[in-house]
Parts: sequence; structure tokens; C-alpha cells
Amino acid sequence: MHARLIPIAAIVVAIASFGPPAVAQAPSMPPAPSMFSAATLAACAKIRDAALEDDYAYRRVADLADTIGPRLSGSPGAAAAVTYVQKQFQALGVTTRLQPIMVPHWVRGAEVAQLTAWPGQPQGLTQKVVVTALGSSPATPQTGIEAPVVVVPDFAALARLGQAGVAGKIVVFDEKFDVQLAHDGLAGQAYGNAVAYRGRGPAEASKLGAVAALVRSVGSADFRIAHAGQTNFRDAKPIPAGAVAAEDADKMARLSARGGGVRMRLILTPRTLPDAPSDNVIAEIPGREHPEQVVTIGGHLDAWDLGDGAIDDGAGVAIAMETAQLLAHLQMHPRRTIRVVAFMNEENGTRGGLGYADAEKAKPQNQVAAIEADTGASHPLGIVVNVSPAGERALRPLMSVLAPIGATAIRRVDDSPETDIGPLSELGVPTIGLMQDDRHYFDYHHTAADTLDKIVPREIAESSAVMAVVAYGLADADTTLPRVK
Ligand SMILES: [Zn+2]
Repeated sequence: MHARLIPIAAIVVAIASFGPPAVAQAPSMPPAPSMFSAATLAACAKIRDAALEDDYAYRRVADLADTIGPRLSGSPGAAAAVTYVQKQFQALGVTTRLQPIMVPHWVRGAEVAQLTAWPGQPQGLTQKVVVTALGSSPATPQTGIEAPVVVVPDFAALARLGQAGVAGKIVVFDEKFDVQLAHDGLAGQAYGNAVAYRGRGPAEASKLGAVAALVRSVGSADFRIAHAGQTNFRDAKPIPAGAVAAEDADKMARLSARGGGVRMRLILTPRTLPDAPSDNVIAEIPGREHPEQVVTIGGHLDAWDLGDGAIDDGAGVAIAMETAQLLAHLQMHPRRTIRVVAFMNEENGTRGGLGYADAEKAKPQNQVAAIEADTGASHPLGIVVNVSPAGERALRPLMSVLAPIGATAIRRVDDSPETDIGPLSELGVPTIGLMQDDRHYFDYHHTAADTLDKIVPREIAESSAVMAVVAYGLADADTTLPRVK
């Protein structure tokens, strides 16, 4: 997911201020025409009620998480997920196809870290450090490396150390995830602040001659768990890179502050294989009046390999699949086409999102809106939108359909709210993400604890209702949202 702001205060205001009319009008002025007819809004209410009574989305994410499990791009799990989702679409009787793409193929190996020296170390003792390799990390030698540890709180501290303080060492970035900010309802912002270190910390350390780089896990979990994720070396020489549990980062910082030096032995043996063939899975509910005009909805099929990818992002795929199931079951056909896309490779390349947008770029005006679910399965509060101010106002009557589940909030942001639909946003397509209660999302995100038990069936049904209502509403509206570019 992208970093973004969802202040609870704003949500409360948005919910509290729901009601007619959203914009004050002089009595003599006619009300602004709505882009949604009464018939469209009634159809949306019917879809909402059907979604809330259906457990289809929960059963789909249960299959993805339990019977397939880890689905990193290029893996057997990712391939099985492609087949599974396409079979489900076929079972619904909707038109489906695969969109071939090439994906990075990175495979995790051994992961061992131990402190081998520290101030006050009893003779002959080592201490385990909980570590996981970051995506695109190269390997250490099979026997590992052993080097002094230098802990830095931020990029400025790294720069102050310079080459003299960094060369030949293992750099540990100790940027803390702001748990309070997340609990205040700004989890996306907390993630965005900390993930910069996972993204380019290892590259910055490499430029100063570090032999490896470790980041404090980007997440809010206790219980000494490592959060995986992608790092990018770009023009820097790749060096072994991993994430350590927050508790281990804290301990190394404390030991370093005692003086006398800390040393670590690190074994990471991931492999980067040649790019592998894979697919986006696409299904269509054709529009009855403008089949060439498309509302794209989706989630991402790939998932980090430590857990089962239940909340990131089996849930999003299942939520989008639910729209197809509802429309097939209710035999409803909006004016425009709704296209469901299970994107491949969001986590370590976005090749699915890029490939999809590439195929649309000849006629970008045919993409009238894109919606992605990629913030888990918790209770929805509304939507996050990258649309014009006029587009935001136009959406309000549609969101009123979601008042019974408390999901009427709209928050406007300056960039695509989700990753896979980002390339469509570049083509001027209005993009929309689900706004969900993400106060605990980053407890589990990219960890071994991303498993099905984190999903409450009622809540994923609510999120499915939001996706289906917004998708149908936009596909059946009298007009389309203004372009964003
Ligand atoms: Zn995701």
C-alpha cells in the first residue's frame, strides 16, 4: 500500500457530516445534478445488502491463504493462485483471460544472525538475532560474514559517520515505526515514514562501503517478529540486506551505546533467478451500453512468503472477486464494463500493474476509474480517492448508500492510493482505494503472522460491499468522473 493519511478525526467529521446536501446552496439555485440516478442508487443498495449476507469473499481468501499459502512472484504458490482465481471466475460464468507478464524471481534462503561480541559478553556465548532477508538482497557466502555492527537512527547519522565509520561494517538502521501515530489512525503515514529506510537504507549503506545492512522491521508488531519487504539498490552495489525484529534493533542500539563494540555473524542466502513468466488474471462483466468503457477493480495475487498473505493481499483479491460473484448471481449489468484484475507482483516489482496499464495506454480514456483493495480486511470506513475536488463532491451521494455500515467517508489524496493502479493514475484515470481500520494492519503486514485468523468474516463482507457499491455506481453512472490529468 501507499503511505497516506487517514486521521480518525477527519473520518469522524466525514461520517458526522454525512447527509443532504453536502454543499450549501442558495435557495434560488437548483441542486447540482447528481451523476447517480435513483435507479443506480437503488441497485447499489441491493448489491450492498447482498454483499453483507454473502461469505463468498471470506471463502476465497480462506482458499488462497490456507490451501495455497505463500505466493511470492515466480513461486509455485503464485502460479497456483493464478490457476485458482481463473477457475473461480470460470465457475461464476464470467468471461476470463490471463494477461502474461514477466516477473522478478527472488527466492529466500537461509537466514541466521548472531551477535558474536558485545560489551560484557560471557566467554563462549553468542546471542540470536531475529532476521529475514529483504527482497532483492544478494547472498552472503554460505558460511556468512562476520563484522562490526554500527547502529544509526537515521540517514543524517549515517552521513555523519561517512565512509570512515561505515566501510567494512554491518549497518543497522534503527528508525522506529510510530505505533502511537498508527493507533491514532495514521498507520499509512507511520508506514511511509519508516519504509524509506527499508527501501533505500541498504543502498545508502552500500555507497559508504558497508558489507551488509539491516533495517529495524517496518511494522507495529510486538513478540519479536521480522517484517519482510522489498529494498532497492538502483545504482548502488547490492549488499546483503535484511530486516531485524524491533526488539533486536533496540538491543543492538543499547549494547552499542555501552561502548566497546558489537559484532555480528550474518548468513543470508537468497537467490535472484531469471525473470519468470506469470500472469494477471482478468474477468469481465460487460457493460450494457458502453462495453468499451471500463471500471477496473482488483487486489494483488502475490504475497510475501513468510506468512499466507491473508490480509496482504488475498483479502483484496477476494473483495474484488466478490463484486463479480454478486453481479453474476444478481444478474445485474451496469452501463459500463466492470473488469476484475488479480494483479501479480505488487510486492517486488509492480510488473502486473505496469503491464495492465501498458495494455490500456493506447485508449486511456476508456478506463473511467480504478479501485484497488490493498489494506487488509478490517472494517471499512469509506474510500481514499485521487480524484478532482468536483469528483469528490460527485461521489458523495454514492457513499450515502454505505451509511448503514458506517463507510461513507471520503478522503482525497494527491497520488494513487494503491500501488497496482498507480500506473493507471499516470494515464489520468481517477483512482480509489478502500479506507479500512488499519490501526493493527502493520502488526501483521509482511510477517509470518499474516494468516487467515486475522480476518473477521463480517468485516471482509463489509469491505466487499464498499468495493461492489462503488464499482457498480461508477459503472452505471450517468456520467464519468473528471480525469485527474
Ligand atoms: Zn499489498
